Amino acid sequence: MSDARSGVVYLVGAGPGDPGLMTARSLELIASADAIFYDRLIPPGALAGAREDTELLYVGKAPGKPSVPQEEIGEKLIEAARAGKSVVRLKGGDPFVFGRGGEEGEALREAGIEFEVVPGVTAGVAASAYAGIPVTHRDDASAVAFVTGHEDPEKAETALDWAALARFPGTLVFYMGVKRLGDNAAALIAAGRDAGEAAAAIERGTMGGQRTVVATLGTLAEKIEREGIGAPALIVVGPVVERRETLAWLERRPLHGRRIVVTRARAQASGLAKTLSNLGAEVVELPAIRIEPAIESDEVRGGIERIGEYALICLTSPNGVRFLFKAMDKVGLDTRSLAGVTVAAIGPGTARALAKRGIAADIVPERYVAESLVESLETVEVEGKKVLVARAADARDVIPEWLANRGAQVDVVALYETVREVPDPAAVEAAQAADYVTFTSSSTVRNLTEVLGDRFPPGARIVSIGPVTSEAARDAGLEVDVEAERHDVDGLVQALLADATQ
Ligand code: SAH
Repeated sequence: MSDARSGVVYLVGAGPGDPGLMTARSLELIASADAIFYDRLIPPGALAGAREDTELLYVGKAPGKPSVPQEEIGEKLIEAARAGKSVVRLKGGDPFVFGRGGEEGEALREAGIEFEVVPGVTAGVAASAYAGIPVTHRDDASAVAFVTGHEDPEKAETALDWAALARFPGTLVFYMGVKRLGDNAAALIAAGRDAGEAAAAIERGTMGGQRTVVATLGTLAEKIEREGIGAPALIVVGPVVERRETLAWLERRPLHGRRIVVTRARAQASGLAKTLSNLGAEVVELPAIRIEPAIESDEVRGGIERIGEYALICLTSPNGVRFLFKAMDKVGLDTRSLAGVTVAAIGPGTARALAKRGIAADIVPERYVAESLVESLETVEVEGKKVLVARAADARDVIPEWLANRGAQVDVVALYETVREVPDPAAVEAAQAADYVTFTSSSTVRNLTEVLGDRFPPGARIVSIGPVTSEAARDAGLEVDVEAERHDVDGLVQALLADATQ
């Protein structure tokens, strides 16, 4: 398969919400398209891999708000393709399952525009699977029907044959069926389906915060009303629902049902966010700081151009490694210019970032603090030698001072700086009901508490990576509930888990 071609429209399914369920083809096309027209129900971060200059156009429908009419979407797709762009039309789930992909394909064919359809994992299959409900089963269901629970109000007569659905020998899966569940269930029962048959509603299937409510066909409507189940949700009717007692797996994860705020800079947050969501948590990313490269200055350029002349280079973070290589690339250098240089990394994370670029660090202390790196450098002869310290603009001076005291000629290049991030209002709102807020550095504590003010999550327990961060939290007026014993991300996760499952 090739990248997105100009003049072609790709009707792409983005899956049900879990970013991990996006297909390889969808990611490839998102990464190469000139324009992306996207819907509301696409996974968080689905567009993260798009090129910086790709046009991103929201054409989704929000409940109760005016939306871009379907015809206009079709026209826009045609216009973009005719202008020679490669166009991705990104939809939740599968484009041909209640996704109006068929209509868009027809409009494109009529206009003579080439298109490709990329199927997605449809919610009916995925949300059920994440709820531990197999839509077919050798003993219980030899067929499955996908049914709309909400018909186009402009359609003159109802197309749903309730008698046929009542007789259907298998599982019924209703999309868009929450609001009308009462009427639909009554119609099914009136047509002969057993009111005592098991039925489930799955809200936000495959996403953090997925909720499943189980009842019978006769009682589900009342129960979801009571529990406040809202869209997007799916209704599953059939004996397979009872298999959930054995097959539910998501809800068994230790952090299921917990909402946890991750405050790291977005570029670094993914590891922590992934670990927590793999443990079942619903993660809200509320980055308090952002990392900005600072590799354009003459000072940095000068240092990087002469990189091969240094006897020793000290790197103090994975970001430092990332921006060092970016800066080297900018002046036309690559790994070979480090051939004769001794490389010291402040900790295992920095060493791993180096290893990814083919460099095995010569010096890696066990603990992740400047003082340990200094200890490990004791064995290196630095007197009279040229040493480069590549790091953040606002870093502490422990390493350069120690090196200078030992007689080294030290150059410091600030490759990046941390700047305050303005939080996304939706994330701030979601964070209000958080069970935990995690802090991995004192700068995130300071920035987040200042920027949120009285919008800081009121009932959340505070988890800190170590004593320095805890102190910053107390200075900011927070009470620290959990402090990691090992001061790295894994240590923080362990401490949080212990607190949540005690
Ligand atoms: N093309 C999509 C369906 C779009 S219709 C697909 O193939 O999945 C929108 C409906 O899909 C919603 O009203 C809801 O019933 C269902 N849906 C979509 N995402 C869902 C999710 N994550 N959990 C539960 N239901 C979902």
